[in-house]
Amino acid sequence: MPSNIDTRLADLPILFDTLTLASLPSDIQQQIAAIDACLPQTQCGLCEHPDGCLPYATAIVVEGEPYNKCVPGGQPVTDTIHQILNINNKEPLTAAASQWPIDPITERPTEVRAIIREDDCIGCTKCIPACPVDAIVGTGKHMHTIFTDLCTGCELCIAPCPVDCIDLVPIERELTESVRIQEQDNLRQRYHTHLNRVTEQLADSSNTKPVVSMVEAKLNNAASQTLDISEQQAKDTIAAAKLRSKIKKLEKQLSVRENTNKRLELAELQTQLAKL
Ligand code: SF4
Ligand code: SF4
Ligand code: SF4
Repeated sequence: MPSNIDTRLADLPILFDTLTLASLPSDIQQQIAAIDACLPQTQCGLCEHPDGCLPYATAIVVEGEPYNKCVPGGQPVTDTIHQILNINNKEPLTAAASQWPIDPITERPTEVRAIIREDDCIGCTKCIPACPVDAIVGTGKHMHTIFTDLCTGCELCIAPCPVDCIDLVPIERELTESVRIQEQDNLRQRYHTHLNRVTEQLADSSNTKPVVSMVEAKLNNAASQTLDISEQQAKDTIAAAKLRSKIKKLEKQLSVRENTNKRLELAELQTQLAKL
């Protein structure tokens, strides 16, 4: 198991300074590094540690926090942490439940990936800073898209989207342990790059823009290709996206059970959309 504390706990982003890892005894650091190495590195915060996997690994070892809270890791990760902690006299805890069904092959919750419904995206950019691995690209007032290969399915971009145009789709895949560990290390590195970039942006007093992706900044610089849209157009686009979203929900409900009022509401919304 990769748990080299010299590399794993060195050169961390300043976000982790409060963990004071360097002051801990080396055997404690070793356990933290080993636990961090087995965590999925989606940085989703479902373990109640919004800063991600490393703070959770630290809390398990230093504060005795329950080791079964990593939702995407499921039972396999809980069992691995049980082994690392060397709790031989007890059965492993049961992993925290996920909203996604357990994949029979990996025995972990089914993985998902985020997809933007590009027709509905209003280019507000709110999803970009939410993504811990910089998997979303796009620029203001333009449609955004997600690099599916980079997306971890952490779901952090869903809540900020004002028009509810990001869907989660399940994926199936089978990874060898070594490939999974490698992938987790890459994700961890991407997260650290993201944190270091945000830190630099915050420290840059000449930067008056909100924190956004570097990719977006580059795209913004391609000024010759930007499309200027009027305030009214922007409002119409938002209204249309909201209407489409409501229409989709009603159509879904009506496909299950017919309802006269809902059918009338649907016709009214379709009329409103046609007028925009
Ligand atoms: S992947 Fe697991 S440990 Fe990492 S932030 Fe999410 S729930 Fe916490
Ligand atoms: S695109 Fe969304 S779901 Fe995918 S990694 Fe980024 S924030 Fe998470
Ligand atoms: S938050 Fe939603 S609407 Fe805004 S850019 Fe992202 S996907 Fe598009």
